[in-house]
Amino acid sequence: MTNFVQSSFMKVYNNILETIGNTPLVRINKLAKSVPAQVFAKVETTNPGNSVKDRMALKMIEDAERAGILKPGGTVIEGTSGNTGMGLALACIIKGYKLICVLNDKQSKEKMDILRAVGAEVVVCPTAVEPTDPRSYYSVSRRLATEIPNSWYVNQYDNLSNRTAHYEQTGPELWEQTEGKITHFVVGVGTGGTISGVGQYLKEKNPNIQIWGIDTYGSVFKKYKETGIFDENEIYPYITEGIGEDILPANVDFDVIDHFEKVTDKDAAVYTRRLAREEGIFVGNSAGAAIKGLLQMGEKLTKDDVVVVLFHDHGSRYVGKIFNDDWMRERGFLEEELLTAGDLVAKHGNKPLVSLYAEELVSHAIAKMRNFDISQIPVMKDGQFVGSIDDSHVYQLLVEDPSLRDAPISTIMNPAFPVVQQNTSVEELCKLISKHVPAVLVELGNGKFHIVSRYDVIAAMA
Ligand code: PMP
Repeated sequence: MTNFVQSSFMKVYNNILETIGNTPLVRINKLAKSVPAQVFAKVETTNPGNSVKDRMALKMIEDAERAGILKPGGTVIEGTSGNTGMGLALACIIKGYKLICVLNDKQSKEKMDILRAVGAEVVVCPTAVEPTDPRSYYSVSRRLATEIPNSWYVNQYDNLSNRTAHYEQTGPELWEQTEGKITHFVVGVGTGGTISGVGQYLKEKNPNIQIWGIDTYGSVFKKYKETGIFDENEIYPYITEGIGEDILPANVDFDVIDHFEKVTDKDAAVYTRRLAREEGIFVGNSAGAAIKGLLQMGEKLTKDDVVVVLFHDHGSRYVGKIFNDDWMRERGFLEEELLTAGDLVAKHGNKPLVSLYAEELVSHAIAKMRNFDISQIPVMKDGQFVGSIDDSHVYQLLVEDPSLRDAPISTIMNPAFPVVQQNTSVEELCKLISKHVPAVLVELGNGKFHIVSRYDVIAAMA
């Protein structure tokens, strides 16, 4: 009896599902400096499955139970990029269902491992097939649901309990947390559940609130919203996870969405890293896309605006990808600090500087360019750089007068390459290097120099 009285005062949850929701709103400081508005992030990682999807996963299961389509001991089947699977897994554990998650092979290994860790069976399907292809994860999910007895296919795309969860929970939380001051809601769009549920709730409260969806290049949403055309030419494989679609899910309510903004794969990845490093907010790929999309829209904002950007999931699911330097570098996403002449020299600093003497013959210059596979060479006299030659110049001269092969270089050379210091930025190098100036010399100290060519600069910028 005493225990019972005490326990009624304890602040406890009866199971993990009761901890879903009431996620914090956190001010974005450094990253939002370029916009005049106040910007807050709705950080959904404090949900027990570390993503916003816990909300709709539980709601879809409870609605299916109420409707009698999910029965005791049943098997829940879903095509999921991982986060919905995690939310479903927690609900299935507490409620005693078996779970099969069907993923496409673009999803991170971490996401698959996490699903297995919480007891789900994971089936992996190819990404680069049409949604109607029998191998697609849409088709496989549907097929499994017809084959497995007492099973239920969740279909987060068209199951409207998805957006209802956000209408009932996420929207009201945002309204209360901002005391009704929210003017803009910005979020990545996949199934459309988050944006449509939150958007509908907020618009009912105040129709002036702007609802901006973040889309990817390779997805159909933006064009469909702007033209009403479902354009298959918009569809191609992309890297950003969780947002953009090659279908129009029933959960996307285009009427509550005011604008779609597309963000590149690179920007989404780079801004995901910046959120971690500059704000200490360790969140996933779609969060980087969302904050970058908002910044792209900066000129539409004023100082009186209160913007909320929703961050869907946790950064730990991307440690093998976005937060892995090799993965980023392979895709050309890494913003390397390779920004000075010294950095470019370091890339080939193990090779000696090839030079010519002014009195050498043009034929020597040609042989050197061929042997060292280079296109330009500085020319020296008495330890000083007095000129330069490059292949296009030599070629032009020899076409006009082949006998110049035997002339001394000093008679045909161009002016010496400009000399820069190691700390000269790549931007400055770009200004110096032109059609007529194919390279610069970098002073390394102790009388040493090295060369940076037009090609080196292009390679650094690629
Ligand atoms: N970000 C991530 C990481 C997601 O998993 C999803 C869901 N596919 C989204 C964004 C998009 O959310 P919604 O499905 O509610 O539109």
